Amino acid sequence: MPQGKAAGQACANLDKESRRCRIWGQPDYPAFCRGFTPEPEFCGANAEQALQILTQLECQTAKP
Ligand code: SF4
Repeated sequence: MPQGKAAGQACANLDKESRRCRIWGQPDYPAFCRGFTPEPEFCGANAEQALQILTQLECQTAKP
């Protein structure tokens, strides 16, 4: 997604069933993602909490 993604839109590289990145570790894995360090503030303690936190952040930063 060279232009990034809009809030509320899933990344095109995210496998919807496994919730895993399909290009992790490959040459086209984005630098932004490579530089992201998981933190409890964003990721919570499990996948369900991470989804809740990220959904809330996306709602707060969505363009009107
Ligand atoms: S790690 Fe990056 S490229 Fe992979 S699914 Fe998440 S946002 Fe998309």
